[in-house]
Amino acid sequence: MEYDVVVVGAGPSGLAAAIRVKQLAAENGREVSVCVLEKGSEVGAHILSGAVFEPRALNELFPDWQARNAPLITPAQKDRFVFLTARSAWPLPTPPQMHNAGNYIISLGNLCRWLASQAEALGVEIYAGFAAAEVLYGEDGSVRGVATGDLGIGRDGRPTDRYQAGMELHARQTIFAEGCRGSLTKRLFERFDLRAGVDPQTYGIGIKELWEVQPGRHHAGLVVHTIGWPLTPATYGGSFLYHLEDNQVAVGFVVGLDYRNPYLSPFEEFQRFKTHPAIRPTFEQGRRVSYGARALSEGGFQSIPRLSFPGGVLVGDTAGFLNVPKIKGTHTAMKSGMIAAEAVFEHLASGSGAEVSSYAERLRRSWVYEELYRVRNIRPSFRWGLFGALAYSALDTYVLRGRAPWTLRNHADHTQLRKASDTRPIDYPKPDGTVSFDRLSSVFISNTNHEEDQLSHLRLKDASVPIHVNLELYDAPEQRYCPAGVYEIVRDAAGHHPRLQINAQNCVHCKTCDIKDPTQNIEWVVPEGGGGPNYPNM
Ligand SMILES: Cc1cc2nc3c(=O)[nH]c(=O)nc-3n(C[C@H](O)[C@H](O)[C@H](O)COP(=O)(O)OP(=O)(O)OC[C@H]3O[C@@H](n4cnc5c(N)ncnc54)[C@H](O)[C@@H]3O)c2cc1C
Ligand code: SF4
Repeated sequence: MEYDVVVVGAGPSGLAAAIRVKQLAAENGREVSVCVLEKGSEVGAHILSGAVFEPRALNELFPDWQARNAPLITPAQKDRFVFLTARSAWPLPTPPQMHNAGNYIISLGNLCRWLASQAEALGVEIYAGFAAAEVLYGEDGSVRGVATGDLGIGRDGRPTDRYQAGMELHARQTIFAEGCRGSLTKRLFERFDLRAGVDPQTYGIGIKELWEVQPGRHHAGLVVHTIGWPLTPATYGGSFLYHLEDNQVAVGFVVGLDYRNPYLSPFEEFQRFKTHPAIRPTFEQGRRVSYGARALSEGGFQSIPRLSFPGGVLVGDTAGFLNVPKIKGTHTAMKSGMIAAEAVFEHLASGSGAEVSSYAERLRRSWVYEELYRVRNIRPSFRWGLFGALAYSALDTYVLRGRAPWTLRNHADHTQLRKASDTRPIDYPKPDGTVSFDRLSSVFISNTNHEEDQLSHLRLKDASVPIHVNLELYDAPEQRYCPAGVYEIVRDAAGHHPRLQINAQNCVHCKTCDIKDPTQNIEWVVPEGGGGPNYPNM
């Protein structure tokens, strides 16, 4: 199928890009064909965010979004920033980046569904349930589009009676909007050496639940962030509680994937967090509605790769535009998509060479660049632990105002794990089934589903590494960092001959294993389209 523009991923960045191209085409009286591919069974099915939404980019894209009934229902009313110890909670002054006046507490999945309807009204073709599995290259080496994966290839690698060949989608420009740790983006990094001269990307894992709580425990518009317990000061992370409409509370926990103790389990830290005396009452007698997890890009300004290459561009979290101190990436993702769309549109009109290099230049002149530049030193300052980082961040924000004459560097997360022999196991409490739960009952409410008879989408480069490296040196950390219980070390009846069992059907597509595996032996590739979580409104 031939298009002018193919967009990979129907998240906020991809949909904003598709919409902007079509808006420009309409304004200029030109026909430009745009197609969006989405691996989730529907738009929004794989979207997981907090989310407090800064509407800056949306105001630019649709100044009349209110008249168009955008699902921005609950204005953020009150911010709380709290330091937790094991038994108590200490209110702290809210850092300026975390002031949310003018923002909205939303479901990003629902915002994407709305954006998709706006895109379709402008003539964008959206194909949900189709995963882009391969980048296509022309004879000159430029990107020519993408191919969706074949359906119905059985576990043994042979076609089953469900077999349907994948499709090739050719485009004059392909916009990669895969979100954090995009699987095709990873290949583009290598092919075009896009990360040369920039810092490694760094990440966090965010685990989230949506709850319906008792009306007396609900305060629509309340935004709470905590730091401290249950993490030790050496580990970056914290929680969020966002009170939406209809007695719903989004609660989540983020752990920096540069954590060092291989016994740490982000899932269990989150479950333990909810048992804190200051947190538990919100959820007692409430109902957990949904569960999910997703990695987020934390490298910021110094980790932004080259953004264009012959035939394509990178937008949103796959490039890494998240503002860490704000814990917000949706507005920057959307704006990067809009800027890329403008550059791509101009390029299509002029018919010039295959690389849209003006995109990076336009981005540099935009508020995205300025915003990320100002906060670039805050996340890397956590190398000095929580208290060192709080002191440095205050200096950087209030005194230097983001204009420090230095830039702190980022490190690759997978290099950070200590050996199990140098650390101590962490004793996590058993779930109480009231506010804390186990992995399997959690994955159940993510509505995750994969066709069972398919090749595993979690590939090991070397099948011996899980036992001879990961188990021997790190006590198999994949058992703990995977929030869906996909990786299990199983032994024979006598407790010997350990082997790694991969329950790929439980995977919620968070991408943590692809990031944190110490020797980068695990490769996450797209499963059959439509597989994965089915989040209702995360
Ligand atoms: C726990 C958590 C809390 C957050 N809180 C906030 C917040 O409060 N406010 C805020 O502004 N931001 C927040 N963020 C960040 C925000 O969610 C992201 O910055 C934003 O979603 C990035 O948008 P995106 O379009 O780049 O990627 P995504 O939203 O990740 O969308 C990418 C889409 O592409 C699809 N896709 C990926 N690969 C393929 C492929 N090969 N083929 C087809 N489809 C594909 C995915 O299924 C997905 O639908 C949070 C993130 C997390 C994880
Ligand atoms: S297998 Fe990997 S991508 Fe899937 S849920 Fe587990 S850590 Fe996340």
